[in-house]
Amino acid sequence: MFRTHTCGELRMTDINKEITLAGWVQTVRKFGSITFVDLRDRYGITQLLFSEKLNALLDANPLGREFVLQVTGTVNERSNKNPQIPTGDIEILVHTFTILNKSATPPFTIQDDTDGGDDIRMKYRFLDLRRSAVRKNLELRYAVGRSARNYLHENNFMDIETPFLIKSTPEGARDFVVPSRMNEGQFYALPQSPQTFKQLLMVSGYDRYYQIVKCFRDEDLRADRQPEFTQIDCEMAFVEQEDILNMFEGLAKRIFKDVKNIDYTEKVERMSWENAMWTYGNDKPDTRFDMKLCNLKKPGSVFTDKSDHAALISGVDFKVFDEAETVLAIAVPGCSEYSRKQTDELTEWVKRPQIGMKGLVFIKCNADGTYKSSVDKFYPEEKLKAIAATANATAGDLILILAGAEERTRKAISDLRMYMADKLGLRKPGEFKLLWVLDFPLFEYAEEDNRWVARHHPFTSPKPDHIPVMIDNDPQISNAAEYLSHPYSGIKANAYDMVLNGNEIGGGSIRIHQRDLQEKMFAALGMDEAEQQHKFGFLLGAFEYGAPPHGGIAFGFDRFCAILGGSESIRDFIAFPKNNSGRDVMIDAPSAIDDKQLVELNIRLAGS
Ligand code: ASP
Repeated sequence: MFRTHTCGELRMTDINKEITLAGWVQTVRKFGSITFVDLRDRYGITQLLFSEKLNALLDANPLGREFVLQVTGTVNERSNKNPQIPTGDIEILVHTFTILNKSATPPFTIQDDTDGGDDIRMKYRFLDLRRSAVRKNLELRYAVGRSARNYLHENNFMDIETPFLIKSTPEGARDFVVPSRMNEGQFYALPQSPQTFKQLLMVSGYDRYYQIVKCFRDEDLRADRQPEFTQIDCEMAFVEQEDILNMFEGLAKRIFKDVKNIDYTEKVERMSWENAMWTYGNDKPDTRFDMKLCNLKKPGSVFTDKSDHAALISGVDFKVFDEAETVLAIAVPGCSEYSRKQTDELTEWVKRPQIGMKGLVFIKCNADGTYKSSVDKFYPEEKLKAIAATANATAGDLILILAGAEERTRKAISDLRMYMADKLGLRKPGEFKLLWVLDFPLFEYAEEDNRWVARHHPFTSPKPDHIPVMIDNDPQISNAAEYLSHPYSGIKANAYDMVLNGNEIGGGSIRIHQRDLQEKMFAALGMDEAEQQHKFGFLLGAFEYGAPPHGGIAFGFDRFCAILGGSESIRDFIAFPKNNSGRDVMIDAPSAIDDKQLVELNIRLAGS
């Protein structure tokens, strides 16, 4: 038998047992005539004690880091206990040992606080995966997957695989394509999601489907994106939005319970997209803390809060505010005593190109009820006081104000809100807050092409009472500058996103299930009949054979795991991730293929 126990298993109750362990050598420490070795496997670390009797054998067969070692010995109580590890009360007095395999010296230490940088760890990811920090992430991922599967199974969902070699399923990214050898000059696309297949399964009568599935999107990789990632992909027939929200709120809560032992009992808050944009400046707000936005000017037409605060800031000839399209403020709690250096630092922060503001105005709401601002020259104290009251600031707060073009300013203040929250420790690790964001616009206007694009995807249904607006109006935009006044701008989607701590972790919609409406949708997106037929003829055809009302959602599995694991990066939760250029540096992919393969595929590379 290779081993009787694992390296994480033995305790005081095993004292005097004769056991065999196998694992990797983490450390070798020689003290005079005895040698201590930490032996590691997936389950933990056990200390081995090689007594003087084994010295000659050890000299002949020296042990090194990451050697694969098998030992037989007796479990002894340790004289020097280590309360940090579960096996810390015992050690193994080694009788015999066998080196099962040697190891080259690893390029970094296989420990929690490794000396290896990101690049080297990715190149030797198989070694990095031996570190317990990484292993714990994968264990968490496995636990999330198991919990999701159990919940979905208990609710009658069926796991059905869908193909990878398909035709484009648009989710707003570029497709990865695969050439077909047998069909010369033709290409498959890898799915950006299984969207059309899960809808077809609804037509086929499999009314509750799920799959934990890879999706492929060729997009410029921001820090937290991967070209292939995993979704918990779900679809249900005979449902309304309310059914979906309840079912998948249940899924998220079940995962919290199973994985983190958190009883998330309260109902998940719901917020309209407009309200989220107006209150927090973005559609995935972290609602664990307040710092809500206050619009000091007349809000733009997309927002629900039409209250006009312009009089507060006008009339003092402060051009920066008078000329700006938008003036937005947040009241940061407890920061009225910020020094000049600190407010300068914030000003620099908003001026960075990523944020793109020209400057920052602040008002200190002092504890003694007085006000001090960076615009004292323009605003008398009573005006500052009125602004503070409108911005819901109280004594001790620091009001930060940004002014500029609407979209940029809104994004900047929302970033500033998160930045300040991070600074103040308001985004507490271990505290989780879910949120549903609802009623998204169905369309977005793409300026470069002067046309509408689907905000979610083209299969998303409008709100039932907005369907006539879509049917009755010509999608053509005659005046690009006025796209906001086009009726299509006001059409709301039957779509929802689930947000966790300021991250979108899931999104979905009630789908269109009528052929004519789907055709109208494709046409609104600029597809003529031939293109519709070429790209989605199969779906339009299926809708003629009894398509039930249906809807669904997909969760970003990697991201959900990362948030539960308290990490910023989804890469930490993927066994073999790609780097920011989409490369797997371990296997060195992507890479050139040989000429023979190109010939077989009938592909000639440009320039060759
Ligand atoms: N297919 C969608 C996505 O990948 C999710 C959904 O609508 O169910 O975002």
